Formats: sequence, structure tokens, C-alpha cells
Amino acid sequence: MTLTTMQDIALAGKIVLIREDFNVPINEDGDITNVARILAALPTIKKALAAGAAVMLLSHLGRPKEGLFDEKFSLKPVAACLSDLLGRPVPLIKNWLDGVDVQPGQVVLCENVRFNLGEKANDETLAKKMAALGDVIVMDAFAAAHRPQASTYGIAQYIPTVCAGPLLIDELQSLAKGLEQPDKPLLAIVGGSKVSTKLAVLRNLLEEVDQLIVGGGIANTFIAAAGFSVGKSLYEPDLVNEAKALIIAATRKGAKIPIPTDVVVATSFDKNALATVKPIENVTEDELILDVGPETSNAYAKLVAQAKTIIWNGPLGVFEFPQFAKGTESLARAIADGNAFSLAGGGDTIAAIDQVGVRESISYISTGGGAFLNVAEGKALPTVTILEQRANEQMSYE
Ligand code: AMP
Repeated sequence: MTLTTMQDIALAGKIVLIREDFNVPINEDGDITNVARILAALPTIKKALAAGAAVMLLSHLGRPKEGLFDEKFSLKPVAACLSDLLGRPVPLIKNWLDGVDVQPGQVVLCENVRFNLGEKANDETLAKKMAALGDVIVMDAFAAAHRPQASTYGIAQYIPTVCAGPLLIDELQSLAKGLEQPDKPLLAIVGGSKVSTKLAVLRNLLEEVDQLIVGGGIANTFIAAAGFSVGKSLYEPDLVNEAKALIIAATRKGAKIPIPTDVVVATSFDKNALATVKPIENVTEDELILDVGPETSNAYAKLVAQAKTIIWNGPLGVFEFPQFAKGTESLARAIADGNAFSLAGGGDTIAAIDQVGVRESISYISTGGGAFLNVAEGKALPTVTILEQRANEQMSYE
């Protein structure tokens, strides 16, 4: 992989855009509850400032409706946090598309890129406008590299100089180390809410893995495919046949997708709901499956212990409610206790790992959810592809 790095470029006196991942969790009071992503970004920002660049930071936050400003998705708390951590003012610029006055040695934060109509569709006019704001883009947001959007792929197409930031490079190198020639058996665990959002991932992972554990709402669709009632659970009836096909495909290649033998159910989806453990065949029409039971957790722990490489994304249940968090937590503990090279990625997965306090025992924690899964399934990340193309052009200009 050929990428231009920050060291390869003279940044002094240049306007340097840095595409960050400041998509941090913010509570109802407007406080950031986890600043890890902001802390991780600091060295890149400091490096650009020390090199004499005028720095403009770009990021998305959440999923606002495009084209509209919405205070709820404002980067205001991020600007305040950055000002504290950098010990200098980091003004938040609300209207930045037509140009910002930023001098060498200064840093500004541009308001949520997703307030701009055309961001997600990588609208050419928008991308060109963004690219016209600076001389260089440093792409440092791994978690946003899998979708070709205006502030990622689009800017990189049109701005004079592009480079990959240190965070992005570190993430790509670490994932390659674990995935290019994984020690077998390879176990993938894909949890979360919906088969539909992870179908391509499930199909592709099946080609590579020796075992596939599905969890959460995804597992519910597989439970239905295996012929059990899932009551009022979150599941996708129109994907039951797809789940059946995946079970058959797995069996054909000697892999397995185990179906939970016991589950934790409730009659309502709320944080005070009473949790009941029962065998999978006893789920009634008025119940929701919200976690796996202890017997299933033990079975999964055995699979984890046998694996030499583990890829994990997505919770096994509604881990946000303590009474339905045990399946996900016991999985995190089993992975931490085992000897496999373990790669975990995605916001919920990291939150679950932190809930158990086993971060140090996971071999590599990726900041990306979708991007992590794309790499895990061997797909090129579009924004990395454009950075490579531009790196080759930049080399041939020299
Ligand atoms: P995803 O964004 O697709 O990775 O899904 C993560 C979300 O799935 C988390 O907020 C979990 O609470 C939720 N989830 C996991 N298991 C279930 C379940 N059995 N029923 C409903 N939601 C679930």
C-alpha cells in the first residue's frame, strides 16, 4: 500500500484540513461521555500546528438531517473540549463552506460536515467547495473511510495535496497484521440489531471463517430460521430465508453458525423489564429475546477458547440494560481470557469491552464499526483507495 504521510509533505504556511472522527457520545446535558476519539486526534493536530500550518478540523457527529442545522448534533462540546486539551482557543465555525480566516499556527473546528446537503452522496459541487478551502487534506478518520462522502473521498479527489494521517495509518497496519494471514481457526462474532445492515459482511465472512457466532437482533432472525418462535423480538421476517441459506452455506464448508440453546427474555423493552432465562423452545408470543442465556454463553466461551484468531463486532444482546448485558459481557471476558489474536471494532463493542474492563486484554481495538467490518471482509476502503491513487499521482509529479 502506497500512501503519502504527513512527514512527506511540507505543511508550513499551508491551510491544512484534517478530517477527524469526532463522532463522540454526548449525553442529554450536552456533555461528552467519552473523549477517547478527541484524545487520539491530538498528536496529529499538534504535529500540523508545530509544522506551521493553518489547521481546519472537519468531522461528522451523529446522523442529523442533511441541509439543516440542529443544535443536538452541533460540534460545540467538541470545540470546548479541544480548547481545554490543546490549551488554546478552538473556535467553532458555523458557516465555513465559503472560506474561513485561519492563520498559520491557528486551529479552527468546522461545524458538523453532515449539516451540508450532499455530504453523504459525495455531491461533486460540495466536495469541490470543501476542497477549495485548503491546500492539503490529512485523512485521519478511519471510522469514516468506508463511505465515499464529500468530506472524505470527495475532498481527497479535488484538493491539491492529500495524505493519510498517523491514526489512519496505524489502524490500517494493525488490522492488516491480524487479518492478512490469520492463524486458524478463525472465529467471527457479528452481533447487533439487524441482519440487513450486516448481510454483506455475514456473507463475506462466511467465506473466510471456521466459525460464525451471530448475536442480538441478528441472532433472532437466525433463531426464527431454525424454526423457533421469537415472539415479539426484534427480527427481520423477510430475511429468514437468507438466514437459512447462510446456515446451509456454513454447513457445506464445514463451519457452523450455532443457534442459542437458552435466552433471556422480557415482556417489554425497557430498562426495568424483568429478565427471565429460558430454553429457546419455550419463548412465548408475548416475549422479546434480549440476550443469550448462561448455557449458550458457556458454549460460546468454548468456541472462543478454541479459536486462534477472533474478529468481533456487535453486542449479543441489549447490553445497555444490565439485566440483558451478561451474554455480551461474558463473551468479552472469554475473549480477554483466551490466547487468540483478537480484533474488536465498533462503538457498542468497545463500550461492552469497557463495561467489563478488559480493554488491555484485547489484541487490537479498532475505532471503526463499518470500516472495521469492511476491512475484516477484505474489501478496499474507498477513501483509502483514493488516497493511494492520489499518492501515486503525487509521486509521479515529483
Ligand atoms: P448495531 O448498531 O446494528 O450494531 O446494533 C447495536 C444495538 O443492537 C444495540 O443498541 C443493542 O441494544 C441492540 N440489540 C442487541 N440485541 C438486541 C435484541 N435482542 N433486541 C433488540 N435490540 C438488540
